[in-house]
Amino acid sequence: MTIEQRPSSDALLIVGSMAFDDLDLPSGAARDVVGGSATYAAVAASLYAPARVVAVVGDDFPGETLTMLGSRGVDCAGVERAQGKTFRWAGRYAANLASRETLDTQLNVFADFRPKLPEHYRDSKIVLLGNIHPALQLEVLAQTRSPKLVVADTMNFWISGERKTLLQMLSKVDALVVNDEELRQLAGDHNLKRAARAVLGMGPRLLIVKRGDAGAILFDGDGTFFAPAYPLESEVDPTGAGDTFAGAILGFLSRAPRIDHAAWRQALLVGATVASFCVEGVGNSALVALTHATLATRLRELHGLLTVDA
Ligand code: AMP
Repeated sequence: MTIEQRPSSDALLIVGSMAFDDLDLPSGAARDVVGGSATYAAVAASLYAPARVVAVVGDDFPGETLTMLGSRGVDCAGVERAQGKTFRWAGRYAANLASRETLDTQLNVFADFRPKLPEHYRDSKIVLLGNIHPALQLEVLAQTRSPKLVVADTMNFWISGERKTLLQMLSKVDALVVNDEELRQLAGDHNLKRAARAVLGMGPRLLIVKRGDAGAILFDGDGTFFAPAYPLESEVDPTGAGDTFAGAILGFLSRAPRIDHAAWRQALLVGATVASFCVEGVGNSALVALTHATLATRLRELHGLLTVDA
């Protein structure tokens, strides 16, 4: 079953980080890789819809990245260029890429960032509060007029360091996207189903749990849906796969005629497929190179993997 897409989309707003990442990968070290939750999410969403981005970069951030986003229809009017250094994150991956350790997080220009939405962003209908300080997620949300869908992403850094603000943010969103470790940390319960129920009691009516190469699970009031990950032969760099997954889901939903169960389920398969490309290259290289034709082929393949009587 596939969901028809509308020719026009609901305006999609993405807030998140734009970053330099230092990555210790099994294939070697990669320094000053352009990353950030907003960058990955916007590139992914732009396969479906022209997202608007709110973020801050320092004077060291490459203009080519903003040009690349612009060439994909991404509106960067809300990306502020501040004096100082761009946000920086460093991580080291385990040999099997299944887990990673944060080595360093430098907020830099994000420390003093007060997001101010350009006037034309305020009527955005779909909002992705990408992984960033929950206080900034709240500030952005407060400046929107009447979004019909608000989805938040977060990570362990904020769950442990900014729990109170994070809970405030969760009370205002429709859906939360986290990985299984983050879910357990947030709920204080090791059992996934119980933890999901606890988080659904914190505000969101939908919860998406990412489990890396084990796929993703959608929990909502009416049940549970499992989306497998696309099985890859070559995994290079999972950085940004979660943001890519969320960006593709919302890009897809912004073109769905209705955001109902079927659309969410289809969106999860789309998110899983787009995210699989992200993992195939260092940083956003494979994602930026992805064409609609290649995406459609892999999406069909993923659908095929789910069919019993083919
Ligand atoms: P993911 O692999 O989907 O969790 O996303 C990794 C991206 O998130 C990297 O490009 C980082 O720059 C960015 N990132 C890491 N930590 C943070 C943080 N505390 N706040 C915002 N963005 C972050």
